[in-house]
Amino acid sequence: MSLEALARLRGPPPILQAGEVWLVGAGPGDPGLLTLDALAGLLQADVVFYDALVDERVLALARPGAQLQFAGKRGGKPSVAQEDISQRLIDAARQGQRVLRLKGGDPFIFGRGGEEMMSLAAARVRFRVIPAITAGLGALTTSWIPSTMRGLNQAIILVTGHAAEKGVDWDAMARTRQPLVVYMALRNLDEIAEALQRGGLPPDTPAAVIASATLENQRVVVSTLDRVASEARREQLTAPAILVVGDIVRVRQELLSLCAGS
Ligand code: SAH
Repeated sequence: MSLEALARLRGPPPILQAGEVWLVGAGPGDPGLLTLDALAGLLQADVVFYDALVDERVLALARPGAQLQFAGKRGGKPSVAQEDISQRLIDAARQGQRVLRLKGGDPFIFGRGGEEMMSLAAARVRFRVIPAITAGLGALTTSWIPSTMRGLNQAIILVTGHAAEKGVDWDAMARTRQPLVVYMALRNLDEIAEALQRGGLPPDTPAAVIASATLENQRVVVSTLDRVASEARREQLTAPAILVVGDIVRVRQELLSLCAGS
C-alpha cells in the first residue's frame, strides 16, 4: 500500500516529518489490528526501531528502503538497554531521519513508552504518540471474555506480574473483587496465584492464561486460581501470555457450552 492509497481511504494521514519520532503501538500481534495511523507511520519512516513483540507481517508493511532496527530488551540489564534505546531514537532524529518507534500493544502500557517520550521531550525532539489495542484487552476479546459485563464487574485492572515490580499489592488487588489482567505473568504464575488467594480470592475463582493472543498459535487455558499455574505448565504455554482472573472468564465457558449445544 502507498501513502497516496491510504490517503484516498481515510483522508490525508498525519505526516511524519524529518527529525521527528513517532511512538506507535503495533497492537497485540495480528496485522489486522494495526491502526491506519500506525500504517501511515510505516509507509513514511526512514528507520523503524521495533520491539521483540512486533509481528513480522507488520514490519513487512514498512516502506521499501526503510531501515528496520531491532530495539527490544536485552536480558539482564533492562535499565541500561532502555537508555540506549532512547538515545538511538534521539540520535536518528537529530540526523534528520523520520523515525518510527514501534512497540507491541499500546506504547504506554507496560512498554516503557512513557520513559521514551520523556527522553525525547528532554532532548527537544519532536514526537507524536499513536495509541493501539493493548495485548491484555485484545487477548480477552479474541477469547470471548468481555472485559466488562453488566452484573459481573464495574472495573478491570491491568497489572504487571513482572518480578522486578516489587510494588504490586496483591492483597489490595484481591480486595477489589474486580477482574485482573496480569501482563508478564507467566514466569511468576505460582507466586501471583498464591498471593491472590492469600489476599482472599477463593481458590475456585475462574482464571485463564491466554498466550500469543490474536495470532494463529493463540492458546487459551481456562482453569481456576488454585490450578491455573500447574495447568499452564502442563499445557506448555509460552510467552507472550497474560493471566486473567475473575468471573468474566466464565462467560467464555458458558458461550462454548451454548455453541456445543446448538
Ligand atoms: N505494551 C504492550 C505490553 C508490553 S509488556 C501492550 O500494550 O500490550 C509485554 C507483555 O504483554 C507480555 O509479557 C505479555 O504479558 C503481554 N503480551 C504482549 N503480546 C501478547 C500477546 N500476543 N498475547 C498475550 N500476551 C501478550
